[in-house]
Amino acid sequence: MSQYDYLVVGAGLYGAVFARQAADAGKKVLVIDKRPNIAGNVYTKKIEGINVHIYGAHIFHTNNKEVWDYVNRFAVFNRFTNSPVANYHGELYSLPFNMYTFNRMWGVVTPEEAAAKIEEQRKAAGITAPKNLEEQAISLVGTDIYEKLIKGYTEKQWGRPCTELPAFIIKRLPVRLTFDNNYFNALYQGIPVGGYTKMVENMLSGIEVRLNTDYLKDRSALDALADKVIYTGAIDAFFDYQLGPLQYRSVRFETEVLDKPNFQGNAAVNYTDRETPWTRIIEHKWFEFGKDENGNDLPKTVISREFSSEWKPGDEPYYPVNDEKNGALYQRYRELASHENKVVFGGRLGEYKYYDMDAVIASSLKKAGELLEG
Ligand code: UDP
Repeated sequence: MSQYDYLVVGAGLYGAVFARQAADAGKKVLVIDKRPNIAGNVYTKKIEGINVHIYGAHIFHTNNKEVWDYVNRFAVFNRFTNSPVANYHGELYSLPFNMYTFNRMWGVVTPEEAAAKIEEQRKAAGITAPKNLEEQAISLVGTDIYEKLIKGYTEKQWGRPCTELPAFIIKRLPVRLTFDNNYFNALYQGIPVGGYTKMVENMLSGIEVRLNTDYLKDRSALDALADKVIYTGAIDAFFDYQLGPLQYRSVRFETEVLDKPNFQGNAAVNYTDRETPWTRIIEHKWFEFGKDENGNDLPKTVISREFSSEWKPGDEPYYPVNDEKNGALYQRYRELASHENKVVFGGRLGEYKYYDMDAVIASSLKKAGELLEG
């Protein structure tokens, strides 16, 4: 008999949710993570009284009531609504694409005028059935918005021409003929008060966690501890890249503390031109309205410039590159994974999927339901 029922590799959202469900079902669980901290890429750290999103901005949003109720067991959520601003060579536009954006871009005032402008540009581009991100973007919002707010940003973020990127990526963004700057259409949205790390800590309450423990470096000893392994690391790394590496985009952050209360007046400003080397600047205090936990204004601010790069060994993988070539390679890794009877692969890296947080949680709850049933 093994010491544990489950070894959960990775203390991010997928792993923490699975561990919680297994522990609540009476299973013995060990969670390990190679980092010195829990919470994976939703990890937040307090700097100058501000919860800094160390691995990039995370804004929780969902339409899934079950997931929303679930996360609310572990955190109180504030009323933050994501409304990023796009900065194109100093011209500021509202995001996502809505009547404020169209008014600023074309001077149009009514939804009919905006729709006509988009239609005119879509027609001129001759697009009927969009085959890639560029065509999808132009058919949704026209050429001007594509050129100023999408092309440069997307090519910086993905390091590939928009003509070689899948159309679904741009469909993440709403397009509205209303004056509504809410980036998401989700019914529920917010940031956990006190930070994501505290939320994940609450999920893992009472569960054994070993940090600084790299599964891939000590696999046989760790495998021997448990009957089953929930692996949330990169699937290609699990198989020692034997079919070749999957591609990921990595992100580097330059974080600075500034001795002023307000740098950009918003949590996120996207730099959508091609020339500015960073994709966006996050000013973390605005996720919590610039206040500390007692409601006092914070005198300083912390900003992170975000630089996107192609992943190479040693970097943190962030975004799977879900194009055809990588999709096909992933399917071959899936085939290998299907023979690993003891191991379940889950999460953004384990399933090589551009998952939002709520979808990761839903997927982990589903898997836990299947495995823990009965
Ligand atoms: N995007 C864009 N301009 C923007 C913001 C986003 O063209 O100002 C595109 C870009 O292709 C990006 C995609 O929309 O990859 C999805 O953006 P989202 O904000 O959902 O990305 P995430 O927050 O996951 O990095």
